[in-house]
Formats: sequence, C-alpha cells, structure tokens
Amino acid sequence: MNKREFLKASGAGMVALALAPGMWTACSARPKAKNWIWMTPVAGLSAGEWKAMLEKVKKHGFDAVLPEVYTGHHAWFETSRLPMQEPLLEKLIEAGRDTGVEIHAWIHAMPNNIPEYFENHPDWYAVNRTGESAAISPAYVPYYRFMCSSHPEVQEFVRQLVADLASCDGLTGVHLDYIRLPDVILAEGLWSKYNIVQDREYPQYDYCYCDKCRAAFMEKSGVDPLTGLEDPVTHQEWRQFRYDTITHLVNDILAPEARKAGRTITAAVFPNWESVRQEWRNWNLDGYLPMLYHNFYNAGLPWIGEQLTREIGELKIKKPVYSGLFVPSLQPGELEEAFRVSMDAGASGISLFNFNAISEEHWKTLEGLLHR
Ligand SMILES: [Zn+2]
Repeated sequence: MNKREFLKASGAGMVALALAPGMWTACSARPKAKNWIWMTPVAGLSAGEWKAMLEKVKKHGFDAVLPEVYTGHHAWFETSRLPMQEPLLEKLIEAGRDTGVEIHAWIHAMPNNIPEYFENHPDWYAVNRTGESAAISPAYVPYYRFMCSSHPEVQEFVRQLVADLASCDGLTGVHLDYIRLPDVILAEGLWSKYNIVQDREYPQYDYCYCDKCRAAFMEKSGVDPLTGLEDPVTHQEWRQFRYDTITHLVNDILAPEARKAGRTITAAVFPNWESVRQEWRNWNLDGYLPMLYHNFYNAGLPWIGEQLTREIGELKIKKPVYSGLFVPSLQPGELEEAFRVSMDAGASGISLFNFNAISEEHWKTLEGLLHR
C-alpha cells in the first residue's frame, strides 16, 4: 500500500499529514526532497569541466545549483551594463540542460561596490543613525556598501539586474541574496571575529536614515525618525517601515519581473530576520533558503529544526523552505544529522554552502543519504 492508498484507507487524509510531520521516517513513501548547492564562481574552467561538476552534483542527489553570478562587484554573465568577469552563467545553463540540473542565478541584490555607482551616486546608499553613508564608510567590511531600497533609482537598478538574468534562455530561476539592510546586530558567533559586543542596537550599525527614508516616514507618520523619536530602536512603526521598504521591492518589483519571464524567484534569508530588517515571512517568493548556520549562533543541530518549525509556521504564503546548511562546520556524520533534523521539521530539502567546501567524505555521505 502506498502512502496515498494508506491515507485514503485510513480516512485520515490531511489530518494524518498535519499531525505527523516526521512520519516519512517510518514510511517508505516520504516526499522527495529537492536539494540545492550554492556555487561560488571559479575563473577559467571550460564548459566540459562545469558539466562534469554538475554530473557529480546530480549523481549525489542534488537537483539545483545556485551559481553566484553577480557579487556586487562583478557579473559572471554577458552584460554591457556591469563590469563582467566571465560569461559563466551561459556555460552553466548549457551544462544544466545536458545534465538535468536546474540553474538558479544567485545575486547580491543590495550591496553595490562598483565604483561608477558609489562614486557618482552616493545618494543611492544607506545611511546609519550617526549620519555615515555606506558608500563611504561601510559597516564591518569594505564590501558592505548597501544601497537603500527607498530610492526609485535603486529599485530600477535591481529590477534591471533581475530582468537581464530572467531573459536568459534555459535559466530556471533568480535567487536573491543580501536582499536587506546591513546587520544591526550580527549573529553572536561572529562578534569575536569583529571584536565587538552587540548587546543592543548601536547607531553606527542601524540603517537607514537617508533623506529619502526620513522624508517618506515623515510623510507617513509626521515624525522625522532621526530627530523626532524618543527611542528609534523600540519604535515599532519605524521598524515596520523599514521591513516594508524591502518587502515592497521584493514583492512588487522583483518577483513580478522574474515571473513575467517565466522564471522562479527564491531568496537566501536570515533566521534572525529583525536584525537585518528582512521580514521574509511576508514575502511572495517561490521558495526560501534560510541560512541556518548554527555555528554562527553558537547553537547545536537541534536549533536548525527549531528555526525551521518557527519559520515554516510564520510564512504568510506557504511555499517550500529549504534548510541552508554551512558545510565547513559540519563533519559528514553531522551533515547527515542536520539533514534528518531539517526534514523532520518540515523542510522541503537542503541547500549546502558551498560546493567548494564539500569534501570527498561529505560526497560519500550525501550519496547514500539523498538517494535513500
Ligand atoms: Zn534610506
């Protein structure tokens, strides 16, 4: 008896499914997972070498790869608008067609480190609560030159990027990363790396107080968020304004652009979404890949399952959630456990960061695990 016949015979239908998220572990008819790998570009590889990599991916139970084709510095696809490194995406689409692996174009949406932009359009960039522009003094690392999504010119820049990629024949989808503001509070496990303690929201990491954001909030609420709020950190309407600004870009501009060309649209998202002003539970995408990098949060593997349960429960529009796992901090046995924890919590599959970090022992574990 297969699962459908069992459910029909039991008369339980959806009730049984709803009550038993971990049921597949004891049942041969568990839903087929869809598994992904983020892939950072490597220069100078031939079409044949990329094809061999995708064959390996497919053989080990993965369905989709996410090549990083726009880094905020360079494009890895044919374009006359951005500094181009190499037309990698075109080679990968061809290799994907030959191997049956889906190709999703991974882009850094909001950081823009192209001199033409941060030199000529500094007003496009996010500004922190001390008045510093990310164009000139980015937080944490030099590449944190985030643009602000309140600006029509910025919305148009990102829309055009998605449109250019979506027009590539054979591409399955566009994958948004860095679709947010800079972290007002970094994941706790990263504090020592930057030699900081972020026990509250400090002004130098709190964005965005650019003229556009201030004017738009002023028009909405009658208050300047920089000078008129007693405590901007706890002011709910001001927080919500910033969440909604990114949500508008995603739902009303980028998602329609990808779908118009017949592509799916997904995003890499944060479990601690409030810290990056990324309220992705309200987004309208085709799938979500939360980066559940447990070591960044000083957490163990059960934390991955707890986050997934909460996130899946909070989604306004129910779409698949794929568990993003950080391979460098997972021994092969732990990767197996992380996969099980994820699937038991209702994930639709896993996404590994990243291809280059997967050792031969990892591959061996994955082949047995994902084909089972
Ligand atoms: Zn702004």
